[in-house]
Amino acid sequence: MAKVLVVGAGIFGTMHAYFALKAGHEVTLVERDPKPLSASVRNFGMIAVGGRAAGDELKVALRARELWGELAQQHSELTFRPSGSILVATSDNHLAVIEKVAQYPDASDRGWKALDRKQVMEMNPGIRGERVTGGLYCSQDAVVEPDRVLGEIRSIMHENPRFEYLPGHDVVSVDETSDGVRLAIRGGKKVSGDIAFVVPGADHSSLFGEHLDSEPLRRVFLQMARLENPGVTLTTSIANFDSLRFYPGYRGEPIDELEPVRPLVQEMVMQLLLQQRVDGTLTMGDTHVYEEPFPHEMREDCYDLLLDEAESILGTRPNITTRWQGIYSQNTADLICVRKKVTQKIMLVTGPGGRGNTLSPAIAETSMKEMFNV
Ligand SMILES: Cc1cc2nc3c(=O)[nH]c(=O)nc-3n(C[C@H](O)[C@H](O)[C@H](O)COP(=O)(O)OP(=O)(O)OC[C@H]3O[C@@H](n4cnc5c(N)ncnc54)[C@H](O)[C@@H]3O)c2cc1C
Repeated sequence: MAKVLVVGAGIFGTMHAYFALKAGHEVTLVERDPKPLSASVRNFGMIAVGGRAAGDELKVALRARELWGELAQQHSELTFRPSGSILVATSDNHLAVIEKVAQYPDASDRGWKALDRKQVMEMNPGIRGERVTGGLYCSQDAVVEPDRVLGEIRSIMHENPRFEYLPGHDVVSVDETSDGVRLAIRGGKKVSGDIAFVVPGADHSSLFGEHLDSEPLRRVFLQMARLENPGVTLTTSIANFDSLRFYPGYRGEPIDELEPVRPLVQEMVMQLLLQQRVDGTLTMGDTHVYEEPFPHEMREDCYDLLLDEAESILGTRPNITTRWQGIYSQNTADLICVRKKVTQKIMLVTGPGGRGNTLSPAIAETSMKEMFNV
């Protein structure tokens, strides 16, 4: 068995550590910040299978969903809710499109079902908007709590004495040595092992920047918000109709025939996603900026539009209590992620895009197979 070092304790690094430990290796998980602060704690926590592209991406997403389910079954401390999602229509035309999408050949793999207004409200009594005409239910979608999940998985790993976590350790170099690998930590400390997974998220420059520069990678900037508890339970994740244009799983004739999107939606590549947290508050997003340098200010017109959409679905307009931004690493080559062995003993993994939380267990499982040839 090997001593495995994992650099970066976002959801990718955490899942790589989990699967390495599960395979019997000794694992040290190293994180730059006192606690992870990047994309993995800023996201919706959605395990979103329904919108994944037909073919390989859907296969990986379904495998990931299965692994999330197994993890939750084995470890009751994981706040995992297999609550599904509803993509909501607010016009008869949009419901007609949803009804066509629900007939796609792989609809049953995704757990899709078209619902009318009454069925939507029965399934999710928090959806009370007068304009709601129906929706697309996806039974495969699930959710975890982004501010808890990393700690929850780490505490599962801490039950195993072969696991060690080193927060507040900024790794400044990773080198292959004659007998393994060595991390140099800012301040002078060294950590040695046999194998290293470098999982740096959207930091494309600090480690192996020259390798990442030659990969088809970009960074994406998103605006997010927390809304006050609306006083009702939202039993599923919620998306507005614009999501249908956004995710590759819905591609097809019914989408090609849609009317053009509103100018702000197009400019900021927006969709409404709403996720109720276990404390009742809502996570709301999102927008997408693909060109760097990213803005340093949040756009209020985007928040207004998202709130209008939320109001049309919920029938109520909760106040925003917090705003934040997040950045993720995305590959632009239709890959599941960028996974590169920079030496025989060092593997670099990033670039999953806006589906990294969803796919992380399946990607980590594959990394183990590729590194250890099993
Ligand atoms: C706003 C937003 C919403 C999203 N919503 C969803 C969603 O609902 N569902 C979904 O599937 N995906 C979602 N995503 C995408 C998902 O969050 C990311 O794909 C995923 O979190 C990436 O995980 P990661 O571990 O690779 O990166 P990160 O979370 O960025 O973690 C990387 C970690 O590595 C550490 N690190 C980097 N360099 C070093 C170093 N040199 N030394 C030590 N540590 C280092 C960083 O400090 C960081 O903690 C969303 C992303 C954003 C931004």
